[in-house]
Amino acid sequence: MATEHATVAEEEYLQTLFWLQEAKLPMTGANVARAMQLSAPTVHEMIGRLERDGYITRASDKVISFTPSGLDHAEGVVRRHRLIERFLTDVLGIPWDEVHEEAERLEHAMSPVLEERMLAAIGDAKTCPHGHPIVAGARIDGVPLADVAEGAKVTILRFENEAEDLLHYLKESGIEPGLKGTLTANSPEQVTVTCEDGQLCSVTFSVAETVSVIADPSPPSRIALPEQLVLARERYGR
Ligand SMILES: [Zn+2]
Ligand SMILES: [Zn+2]
Repeated sequence: MATEHATVAEEEYLQTLFWLQEAKLPMTGANVARAMQLSAPTVHEMIGRLERDGYITRASDKVISFTPSGLDHAEGVVRRHRLIERFLTDVLGIPWDEVHEEAERLEHAMSPVLEERMLAAIGDAKTCPHGHPIVAGARIDGVPLADVAEGAKVTILRFENEAEDLLHYLKESGIEPGLKGTLTANSPEQVTVTCEDGQLCSVTFSVAETVSVIADPSPPSRIALPEQLVLARERYGR
């Protein structure tokens, strides 16, 4: 039987597992450790706790699955995270590159009543400001911006990695979800999108791997690289 209330730490892990599942990456302790930048023993201990508390099961090949209760908790915390981010940008006017950490703190302490009020306050918005669907299962498939050929039309769908230092970088570049343009340069160093208004937005190739887009013509879809989950700034060659 699952305990009714997950701890903050358990919710953090359930959230990370949910992100792995969404990105179609294997739900394993190794990927959790990579994504949360924690040591293998630390993750191993918490995975054991999640299993004992009835939120997950582990197969003989170490792949983790949610129990119905675990999935319910994971979807809840992810939904609150994205809703809070949207509320902070649209209602409170906080820039979208400054809301992720705030949402990380607030998502654990929100009552169903407050959630309902916030949902009413954001109106028609269906995603967080970084393009992730607030309601689980509504995710649109995209391809990494880095895979797109020069000359293709692109619409920016979402930022897969929400590390705030990466979001600051993306904000400075001018790229944001919903933006439309043409991919005008794609080199091993840099990817450039020329927006419909003529503005040029460039990001490093490794950052472009973390940006999902809809492209025409589109490259084949592929699963994100586990490396993209690593939140450290050094990954992005800046
Ligand atoms: Zn976030
Ligand atoms: Zn977000």
